[in-house]
Amino acid sequence: MPHTPDSATALVEASRLLFTTAVMSHSGHGNLSARLAEDRFLLTATGMIRDLSPAQLATVGMDGQVVDGELGPENAEIVAMHSVVYRTRPDVGGIAHTHSPAATAFALANRPLPCRTEPLLRFGQAEEIPVVPWGPRGSDVSVRGIAAVLDASATTNAVLLANHGLLVFGSDPLAAARLVIAIEESAEAELAATRIGGGVDFPAGALAAVRASMTRTSS
Ligand SMILES: [Zn+2]
Repeated sequence: MPHTPDSATALVEASRLLFTTAVMSHSGHGNLSARLAEDRFLLTATGMIRDLSPAQLATVGMDGQVVDGELGPENAEIVAMHSVVYRTRPDVGGIAHTHSPAATAFALANRPLPCRTEPLLRFGQAEEIPVVPWGPRGSDVSVRGIAAVLDASATTNAVLLANHGLLVFGSDPLAAARLVIAIEESAEAELAATRIGGGVDFPAGALAAVRASMTRTSS
């Protein structure tokens, strides 16, 4: 089944946004996907997503079977990293994986990224971003780790992959890309704030109030 132009366009636009806002690592490595149906999604076919075009996308089933197009060997192993999120979170329509440098510093330190910047709240992350313990990418250990963290943090829209990078999800690929940008800015601000005494939490009750209003607007 050919993919819909809308999903392909959304992935190309999401990729463009990540590069024009300079939140990608030097290598330009990453992968993006868009849910097409309950059992399949559209995925970037190789690990390099700079200048992405619709020809560089493949349709894959949740079981890893390629339905349309071709997947590079290095991307066959990341299918499960995306499908575990789609399976666990029916509300998710798009996923972005990047090695955004400041966010990856938190992943490297195995430190959750606290939620204490306005952009994080604005783009849908009103809680700290948890860390998934390291496992080789796409391995059972890594995928089970993602599932366990999503179980424990049922409303998070991002996880840090320990010693690796960032995995972010949203209602569509552009929402995921916008949250990557907010996360990277927030991680940069956290690291900068450590030089002047460290970031400070929002006032008591602020996160609960934002979460309540987010629930109201999404229902
Ligand atoms: Zn990666």
